[in-house]
Amino acid sequence: MTLRLVNPATEQPVAELKRAGVIETDRAVAAAKVAFPAWRSVAPADRARLLRRLAGLVEDHGEELALLETRNVGKPIADSRGEVGMVAEVFHYYAGAVDKHFGQTIPVAGGVDLTFREPLGVVGLIVPWNFPLNISSWKVGPALACGNTVVLKPAELTPMTAIRLAELALQAGIPEGVLNVVVGPGRVVGERLIHHPDVAKIGFTGSTEVGVEVMRGAAESIKRVTLELGGKSANIVFADADLERAAAAAPYAVFGNAGQDCCARSRVLVQRDVYDRFVALLISATGALRVGDPEDDATEMGPLVSANHRQTVASFVESKPLFTGSIPDGPGFWYPCTLVEATNHDRIAREEVFGPVAAIIPFTDEADAVRIANDTPYGLSGSIWTSNGARALRVARALDTGVLSINSNSSVRVSTPFGGFKQSGFGRELGMNGLDGYSEVKNVYISTEG
Ligand code: NAD
Repeated sequence: MTLRLVNPATEQPVAELKRAGVIETDRAVAAAKVAFPAWRSVAPADRARLLRRLAGLVEDHGEELALLETRNVGKPIADSRGEVGMVAEVFHYYAGAVDKHFGQTIPVAGGVDLTFREPLGVVGLIVPWNFPLNISSWKVGPALACGNTVVLKPAELTPMTAIRLAELALQAGIPEGVLNVVVGPGRVVGERLIHHPDVAKIGFTGSTEVGVEVMRGAAESIKRVTLELGGKSANIVFADADLERAAAAAPYAVFGNAGQDCCARSRVLVQRDVYDRFVALLISATGALRVGDPEDDATEMGPLVSANHRQTVASFVESKPLFTGSIPDGPGFWYPCTLVEATNHDRIAREEVFGPVAAIIPFTDEADAVRIANDTPYGLSGSIWTSNGARALRVARALDTGVLSINSNSSVRVSTPFGGFKQSGFGRELGMNGLDGYSEVKNVYISTEG
C-alpha cells in the first residue's frame, strides 16, 4: 500500500512511500540482530568517532533536514532549524559519552566486585509526529552509544527526516544494519516490534493510550520499556511575578509547534489578585504571535499536522473563548490560538488537546496552585513564575512532574534528564541518564581467596 504525504500548510503532495508491514519489520530486526555483535565490539573511541561524524553530517545537511521537517510537519522553519541543531548536539553529546559511561569497582569481602554496562541488543524505537527527528535522536544517540543496534519506527505522517538520518548514518561509516528505519502503521510495524522475540527493548514516545499497549505487550517477554507520554502541564503565575515577562513568554509555552507539544503548558494558572491584568497581557502577547507560512523565517506558528487532528482539536472548544487568533485563508490545516477560561474539572483542562488551545484557571494562594497543578493524571513538565525564590523552590518540590522551569518555559536541554511522572511515563532521556535506558548493569565478582 502507498503512503501519500502532504504538506500541512499547502495540502500539496510531499512524497509517496511504500508502506512497510510485518515482513519488512522482521527483515529490519534480523539485520539489526546480525549487526549487533560487531557493533557492540567496536572500540569506544571508534564508536564515538562514528557518532561524531554523524553529528557533523547532520550539521552539513542542516538546511535540507530543516526544510524536509517543515514541509512534512508544517512547523516554522526557524523551529525546524533549532531542532536540527539540537539533533547534531545530541549526537555530539553521546559521542562524548561513549567512553565516560562505565561501571564501578565495589569493595566487598573476599574479593573484588566489578560492574559493567552492557548493551541490550536490538532496540525498537517508536516515535511520534510532532518532533520527528529531534525525538528520534534522543533515542538513537544513547542507544548507539551504548552499543545497541536499532530499528526506528517514525510516525506514518512524518517519516521523511528519519529516512534521511539512516542514509547519513551509512555515509558517516556506521555499518549497515546498525540503524534501520521502517515506515508503516503503528498497529502493524509498532506492534510487531513490541512482540518480536529478538527485540530487547522498546523506547516509546507517544500518547498515553498507546503507551498502555506498549507496556502490556512488552510484559509478555519482560521487554524493557521507556515511555515518554502525554502531558497537561501547568504554567503557574503568582501575583509577585514579573507579569510582563511571564505574559510575553506564555504564548510560546503553549502555542509553540501549534500546541502539538507534550510539554505544552496548556493550563495557565493565574493568581486571582492579578488575574485580569495578566489575562489582558496574555491576550495581547498571543495576538502578536506571527501565524502563517512555515517557510517564512519570521513565522512563529504554522498549521496543525493533519485535517483529522484539526477536527480533534476543535472538539475541545465547547465554550466561548476569551480570545481567538487569526489564521491564513486558503488551504492548510490551520487552527487559531485560543484562550479559554476554565475550571480544572473541565474537559479542556483534563485532557491533552495537542493544539493551540490554553485553559486559563484562577487560583487563590500557593496551596491552591499546587493542588490544582497536581490534580491531573499527567506529570511531564511545568513552569513557576514568581519573584520569591523560596516559594519557587517550595512549589517546584511539591509538584508531581518530571521537568520544571522557574521564570522560564524551557523543557529540554541535551545534557539534562527529561521524562515524566505519573501517566506521563517513566525512564529518562537526554543527559547521562539517557544512557541508563539503553544498557544493563552486569555485576562480576572475583574471588581473591587462596
Ligand atoms: P501515538 O501514540 O498515536 O503514536 C506514537 C507512535 O506510536 C507512532 O509512531 C505510531 O505509529 C505508533 N503506534 C500507534 N499505535 C501503536 C500500537 N498499537 N503499537 C505500537 N505503536 C503504535 O502518538 P502521536 O499522535 O504520534 O503523538 C502525539 C502524542 O505523543 C501526544 O500524546 C504527546 O503528548 C506524546 N508525546 C510525548 C512526548 C514525551 O516526550 N513525553 C514527546 C512528544 C509527544
